[in-house]
Amino acid sequence: MSQDVEDIKPSYPLFREQEYRDTLANKRDNFEEKHPQEKIDEVFQWTTTEEYKELNFQREALTVNPAKACQPLGSVLCSLGFENTMPYVHGSQGCVAYFRTYFNRHFKEPISCVSDSMTEDAAVFGGQQNMKDGLENCMKVYKPDMIAVSTTCMAEVIGDDLNAFINNSKNEGHVPQDYPVPFAHTPSFVGSHTTGWDNMFEGIIRYFTLNYMEDKEVGSNGQINIVPGFETYLGNYRVIKRMLNEMEVPFKLLSDPEEVLDTPADGQFRMYSGGTTQDEVRDAPNAKDTLLLQAWQLVKTEKFVRNTWKHEAPRINIPMGLEWTDEFLMKVSEISGQPIPDSLAKERGRLVDMMTDSHAWMHGKKFALWGDPDFVMGMSKFLMELGAEPTHILCHNANKRWKKAMEAILETSPYGSNSEVHLGKDLWHMRSLVFTNKPDFMIGNSYGKFIQRDTLYKGEEHEVPLIRIGFPIFDRHHLHRQTTMGYEGAMQMLTTLVNAVLERLDDETRGMQTTDYNYDLVR
Ligand code: SF4
Repeated sequence: MSQDVEDIKPSYPLFREQEYRDTLANKRDNFEEKHPQEKIDEVFQWTTTEEYKELNFQREALTVNPAKACQPLGSVLCSLGFENTMPYVHGSQGCVAYFRTYFNRHFKEPISCVSDSMTEDAAVFGGQQNMKDGLENCMKVYKPDMIAVSTTCMAEVIGDDLNAFINNSKNEGHVPQDYPVPFAHTPSFVGSHTTGWDNMFEGIIRYFTLNYMEDKEVGSNGQINIVPGFETYLGNYRVIKRMLNEMEVPFKLLSDPEEVLDTPADGQFRMYSGGTTQDEVRDAPNAKDTLLLQAWQLVKTEKFVRNTWKHEAPRINIPMGLEWTDEFLMKVSEISGQPIPDSLAKERGRLVDMMTDSHAWMHGKKFALWGDPDFVMGMSKFLMELGAEPTHILCHNANKRWKKAMEAILETSPYGSNSEVHLGKDLWHMRSLVFTNKPDFMIGNSYGKFIQRDTLYKGEEHEVPLIRIGFPIFDRHHLHRQTTMGYEGAMQMLTTLVNAVLERLDDETRGMQTTDYNYDLVR
């Protein structure tokens, strides 16, 4: 055996050794009925053509490599943002294993979440007994102060009624009557992870405030509520808090998983850490107003906040890039009456300085990007502020109104004149786009690495490098700690983008005596 206890090798490079090459070749030749390599290459080449792209874009009843995830994933993230709260998913155990591993691989943290593990009998007779046992066990074993319930496809297909099940569980004494069990139906065959976040958040604020509005008065606590939406950059929670603290604006971040997703390794396991408290949620209607950082994905929340809390909840853009961070801070200033301090004005000036320094390298660079609706919009806007062109803009989980708004934003800049917006499309569509109209880079989550590999397979000149900004990022470490919002986020994104451009230029110009006339020390 080429594997040796004194010299343990991982699969790469181990599988490159002759013994493994022979084994794999034998398996392929004798058991896999592999097509001839020429045929594979022929089909590969065809999938990179304009003809194939047109067929690909006619695809209706099939998603390949979705650029979104399912609803309960979002509801779990939302629930993790509340103090001592256990996310509870009514449905199949495998779904919950998927949610936990998905976050676990992205955040490199343990993710607490329970399921009531419905199986075949529950799928036929309904999952009420699972709910009763599950709530009781969860409360006794993990001792949360709140259990936030959402559903998987299976529970939704058979039509389980969460309200009735939870009430029956309480009436039968499985959990105390006054024990908080907010819930949200999160059918995964509609919407996406962002819808699930919105549904769960609305479920939680509904639970704590809907029937308790008599003594509430808008503005009486002097605060501003901030609702992040499905947000996986820990730096974004931190930068929003920092900016508001610098402005000395009293605020509450409603759903704040920043601590539980970043616990220290000091010998103590923290199942719960930080988060918005129940009292803060009860008090939220007393705030002066509520700002939704990602309004395109917070439709239900917006409606509830306006109709029940009677907050204006003014429409703001995601605070990404220069102008939209300006807008955010000015809106906060307007609501709170607090001026924007010199510290933030200076930070802004530093960002403008950085943008000017890098402009020559960013100008005219073409980017393909995908992700959630607000992120994609903010990223496109920032690219145009840098003089770059968001050529292919793809969003799997937005609506037609978003597309119209996105196109209107593109029309405001000459850098948006060659852009195309693709709504409800997936990463297999994106693959066709980058083969037929090559951008310089892609911006998106880790799944884009397979598109990059395919473009390289076609030939070096076709390769489109991936810049990892988005969710999930499984194959690089610690990027989730970064910041994409505020001036600080814009600085970090610009640093990432411009250095990707320069790295690429170095790659292309280090050919000895061919291209190295431009392999410069100073860029
Ligand atoms: S799509 Fe449905 S079945 Fe699949 S993980 Fe999500 S909830 Fe479970």
